[in-house]
Amino acid sequence: MTRSLTLLGATGSIGASTLDLVRRNRDAWQVEALTAHCSVAELAALAIEFDAKLAVVGDEACLPALRDALAGSGVEAAAGRAALCEAAARPVDMTVAAIVGCAGLGPVMAAIERGGTIALANKEALVSAGEVMMQAVARHGATLLPTDSEHNAIFQCLNGNRIEDVARITLTASGGPLRTWSQAELDAATPAQAVAHPNWSMGAKISVDSATMMNKGLEYIEAYHLFPVGLDRLHIVVHPQSVVHSMVEFRDRSTLAQLGPSDMRVPIASCLAWPQRMETPLAPLDLAAIGQLTFEPTNEALFPATRLAREAIAAGGSAPAILNAANEVAVAAFLSGQLRFTRIAALVEETLARSNDAPRPASLAEVLDVDQSARRQARSLLETQALV
Ligand code: NAD
Ligand code: MG
Repeated sequence: MTRSLTLLGATGSIGASTLDLVRRNRDAWQVEALTAHCSVAELAALAIEFDAKLAVVGDEACLPALRDALAGSGVEAAAGRAALCEAAARPVDMTVAAIVGCAGLGPVMAAIERGGTIALANKEALVSAGEVMMQAVARHGATLLPTDSEHNAIFQCLNGNRIEDVARITLTASGGPLRTWSQAELDAATPAQAVAHPNWSMGAKISVDSATMMNKGLEYIEAYHLFPVGLDRLHIVVHPQSVVHSMVEFRDRSTLAQLGPSDMRVPIASCLAWPQRMETPLAPLDLAAIGQLTFEPTNEALFPATRLAREAIAAGGSAPAILNAANEVAVAAFLSGQLRFTRIAALVEETLARSNDAPRPASLAEVLDVDQSARRQARSLLETQALV
């Protein structure tokens, strides 16, 4: 049976992994829409290859080039934020949400509002919108399939169990490429060093988030919303080999873990085939070759981002959206050489401290307002403070 698919963020790392699986199962899928920020040549080539009905660029300035690239192909072209939401609102069997950042929130909400099944990689959208998104999921009867490897692992471990029986959920963290560095070395870390992840190949933003541990902070907030066990039962442990993708301990002290290769095609395949399974082209997990699996606590003195995220979700209200927005500004500034690595968390903390009177967002529009004003606050701190 053929199923229809829309892929938001088709030209990114998750987009490429998703399309690799679709390419290997070409008859199983009919592609409705593919989107990108701009990357016109790449998007047009994918839309033609996968015989998509629609290709959308978020940046309206890229529309003429997209139209040129798609001329004569029969693929419809569109652009702009509203067009991304309209693409996401088209009825399909599966939406893969793989835009990076809060920019993906509007399209994800559009897919939720039509009651779709959404494979959610775009964690920033859920971190920012939190309760607003989860209430919309319940109201519209949408299905969220966690695609982030940790949350996909937890989702699999919970299968067949009652959430009331969960004693503890433990997110594993690789610790990133700078895990063993000293404070002085971290102060001088370059973008190239921060994005050189030892286990995973990912987009630049999430790679920096892995290096600062903000990725695990965002995932902690993501887990809080996806798995309603309460903050007391959510934990993080560093596991440098990235083989155990997360664990669930039950009240009888039985712990279930999900293991697998560190390749996003595994959790993506689990979402695409859910509730069944499909093949992936990956080699079997060879534990004897891996030899050792090790675990250690997080080091919040050197990597304060997980503390900031815990504090933000404990405070609730607008704090998670502010944390996310400030982090997006800080990571972009770091990648463009305007901010030192160790000042990323500092900028997030300072933005949160100055935004503590922001109201609790109760709608998508209010979340986006909080996001925008936190970005303005973070940018003005960047310009005025000696954070570099
Ligand atoms: P990426 O940077 O490789 O790709 C991002 C995609 O989003 C691209 O298609 C890009 O064109 C599009 N995009 C970027 N900005 C946009 C905008 N303003 N409007 C519309 N489209 C825009 O990112 P990625 O690594 O594939 O990550 C995507 C999401 O998945 C992120 O939220 C990330 O945290 C999450 N995630 C990624 C991985 C991974 O292994 N890459 C693992 C877990 C979760
Ligand atoms: Mg993850």
